[in-house]
Amino acid sequence: MSRFYLPRFHLPLMTALLLAGIVALTAADAAGNDHYVDNRAPLLPSPLVKLPIGAIEPRGWVRTQLELQAEGFHGQLLQLSRFLKKEDNAWLSETGEGHHGWEEVPYWLKGYVNCGYVLRDEAMIAEARTWIEAALNSQQDDGWFGPDKGRGGAATRLQGRDDLWPNMIMCFCLQDYYSYSGDRRVIELMTRYFKYLNSEVPADKLLNGYWPVMRGGDLLHSVLWLYNETGESWLLELAHKVHADTANWTDDLPNWHNVNIAQAFGQPTTYYQLSKDRKHLHASERNWRRIRELYGQVPGGMFGSDENCREGFDGPRQAIETCGIVEEMLSDETLLAITGNPVWADRCENAAFNSLPAAFTADLKALRYLTSPNQVLSDRHNKSPGVQNGGPMFLMNPHGHRCCQHNTGHGWPYYAQHLWLATADNGLAAVLYAPCRVTAKVGDGTEVIVTEKTDYPFGEAIELLVGVPRPVQFPLKLRVPNWCDRPQVTVNGKSLSGDATAGSFIVVDRQWNDGDTVSLTLPMKLRVTRWKENRNTASVHLGPLTFSLAIGEKYVRAGGTDEFPAWEIYPETAWNYGLVLDANDPTAGMQVVRRPMPDGQPFTPDAAPVTITARGKKIPHWKLDDLGLVGAMQPGPIRSAEPTETITLIPMGAARLRISAFPVARRVTVATARSSPESTRPNSTRPRRRRTTAPADHPPTRPLPSAQHRRRRPPPARRCRASCRSAFALSCI
Ligand SMILES: [Zn+2]
Repeated sequence: MSRFYLPRFHLPLMTALLLAGIVALTAADAAGNDHYVDNRAPLLPSPLVKLPIGAIEPRGWVRTQLELQAEGFHGQLLQLSRFLKKEDNAWLSETGEGHHGWEEVPYWLKGYVNCGYVLRDEAMIAEARTWIEAALNSQQDDGWFGPDKGRGGAATRLQGRDDLWPNMIMCFCLQDYYSYSGDRRVIELMTRYFKYLNSEVPADKLLNGYWPVMRGGDLLHSVLWLYNETGESWLLELAHKVHADTANWTDDLPNWHNVNIAQAFGQPTTYYQLSKDRKHLHASERNWRRIRELYGQVPGGMFGSDENCREGFDGPRQAIETCGIVEEMLSDETLLAITGNPVWADRCENAAFNSLPAAFTADLKALRYLTSPNQVLSDRHNKSPGVQNGGPMFLMNPHGHRCCQHNTGHGWPYYAQHLWLATADNGLAAVLYAPCRVTAKVGDGTEVIVTEKTDYPFGEAIELLVGVPRPVQFPLKLRVPNWCDRPQVTVNGKSLSGDATAGSFIVVDRQWNDGDTVSLTLPMKLRVTRWKENRNTASVHLGPLTFSLAIGEKYVRAGGTDEFPAWEIYPETAWNYGLVLDANDPTAGMQVVRRPMPDGQPFTPDAAPVTITARGKKIPHWKLDDLGLVGAMQPGPIRSAEPTETITLIPMGAARLRISAFPVARRVTVATARSSPESTRPNSTRPRRRRTTAPADHPPTRPLPSAQHRRRRPPPARRCRASCRSAFALSCI
């Protein structure tokens, strides 16, 4: 028996599909999962429970991401990053003395150790163990662990106050190590550390400094994790203190830094497990919607915040930090387990498929700091103030982008660990679809192996093969994405009837026998989204994938090493197309073209297994601006006398150069006489060179009151009279 806890205003609500001969979900009770650690009373029951690391073996395209990561910049970062040099490294010191004792080491370890675990790569696991052991051996008599001997706040100039931020990340690494190994020293270390925080640190001084205050939700997550492991009630007292000292994400967004938002918007719902106050549950949904209402009226699942959100900078050329993408994914995965609401799986897939792959080169040997929905030049030149952060933020460079360089390795490993979750009624839920094999205890404790074969998100069919040593009854739950309204399910070839609802779980509760098969088809219809609040642009979608204009990409070496080069990417073909859409049937004339799945990376322009042909027109006056950013768009439709052409669209994740938010082109019989901001500029195909500046990784910024952020129409485009170096007022505050 099980119960799902549903957000009151979540739309659509999660529902159960009742199938013939199948036991339904009920809300009778929530006994909890008998086989895996889930929430203890008095915490709210867990509708979905993360499986131990190692239970899910990724295959196919998702394994390709992990293998490329292991061979790419992140897996080889020990040889690229000065922060990971072992000599005199504070994270390897038993007394916490030395250098590089801040976030970089645990940021890297979080992705590295989990990549090693899901790939079962013994060399990576052994290397990670060196750093894990050092952390375990660093605990001081009073319970502190890690760098910063004497609590000097040396890394962040906290001047004698504890900096809990880097230890928050290391706690995640230790929890994951425990999940994989069962090493009880993790429980002992975290118990002593949290006792120190609970008893030795004044409640109102628990979180000091900008990052700890903004990201206290991570500490809260770890405190509740330990409570579920040990049941020691003083941890709940500490959890209340941590929440009280964390920035107030409950009443509104307290901060506009992209990573803080992506990482912390879900903090109230983490606390909801303890508070049981529905305002905390609702706050995370409200946070997610609010940031997208203001800065996320764009495709790709993210929002424009090219360090911080800035009023007026809300178009599709505004970018997101790569850290922001992976933190969004992890927040979505966490909220999926806490709430049981499949909408968080939809949101995770949106960021994972459409934004994350394009933040890296296809071989995962380089990354850029910033990626945006409309980005047609990825060079080394400074784009500030068009984007907030100065420096070579668009350069694909494995040797820079400090925080992203270390942190983004957890994106794919955590994604792979959340493909399947255990359910409160001892079943299994397929929540994120990808080729894999999961091994888990179900029903009476029988171990089941489910092999999942699929090309999803590039294909509609998902085949599940059930392997059990003896017949066992358990509910199998299959997520129906919000974009899918007519899923089809067969068990052993027999169709199951039912009224499946988009944004729900199909529940198949039966006695399963060895060799049973389940076929799930999630029909993907072409869709066009109009972003009326953002210049009336249009984007094209097929299932969970969003599509971008195929632009010829020319890679030009820009430093780095022969093994790990840095790259600029220049457009080789025209990018200034608007879509020609039928007002009554926007997808009319579009064709889906499918190709076989490649053996390797599918997120490339050449290998993408699905493309779309559509109609488009060039918009001649739409050009790069002087900074090398896509010229700001006027609200469409935009008139163009150019001929209608057939254009090719490729998955947004496969497009490192991309137009994903298209203007809509309107046909005219005479050449347009209307002047546009872009047409007054020099006819530049390459931007004027600007001096590059050193990247400012995570410069602390003062939180802006929410009232300063209101959606407004872009100001009229005109040359800026201020001294902000921007060509047009659209780029100035
Ligand atoms: Zn970053």
